Amino acid sequence: MTPTMLTRSVVCPSGLSGEVRKLTVKEIPLFSDPQLAQSGEIFVRLLRTCWVSTTNGGPYEDDPFDWRKALIGDAIYTLIEIVRATNGDTFAFDVQCPACSKRISWELNLGDLRTTPITAEGTSALLNGKIVVVEARTSDGHEAAYRAHCRLATLGDELSGLKRKSQNPTLASLLQRIEGIEGIAAEELSGFLESLGPNEARDLVAEIDKKIGCGVDTDIDVVCQACGYDVAVALPFGQLLRFKRAKH
Ligand SMILES: [Zn+2]
Repeated sequence: MTPTMLTRSVVCPSGLSGEVRKLTVKEIPLFSDPQLAQSGEIFVRLLRTCWVSTTNGGPYEDDPFDWRKALIGDAIYTLIEIVRATNGDTFAFDVQCPACSKRISWELNLGDLRTTPITAEGTSALLNGKIVVVEARTSDGHEAAYRAHCRLATLGDELSGLKRKSQNPTLASLLQRIEGIEGIAAEELSGFLESLGPNEARDLVAEIDKKIGCGVDTDIDVVCQACGYDVAVALPFGQLLRFKRAKH
């Protein structure tokens, strides 16, 4: 007799809703190919395997639902829900303290990660052409406003970005997300983006995220137990997807 597999209801930041289930030990070989992890295809496989059913397609019109076309925020949110269905809410991980180099062992409740719902503008962009217009400013002492036409980031886009193995992930991500800047010719776009300062680039990405919403805040504040240093780290997805708890 096969025991009934418990499912967990999920409502993604875009409104996409459905049921996920845990990953089983029988399926682990499906995920052990190192190339899968390197290319990020492991995320698509996990989502396809553990997403049991769609109860509300939210702003997506595809049936069956295609995870490659999902907004990155929905994909991350659902992956975290699959981890919760598999391992429970507590996630323990290690990071190295940048101040004293000691190992920091940290634990968090995955249910506490803050999410931002999709905005009306994000929904409408998803349905009609995937572009939002964002106003940003340069901040190098010659403050000037500019308007950028930006693409919504899908899981598929993110994975093609990973495959290109860019030397400069910040620039690659900007080139992927910005379709054009008003007043800048298409052939000058990459030159414009390359000339942004690191803070200007970060502000532009933050403006795009604010305009679209549909995100999970995976920046975590960790405190070093040895020296008291506060450090903000990104949720370590590698450790999260190893499907075992870090040792204490
Ligand atoms: Zn420290």
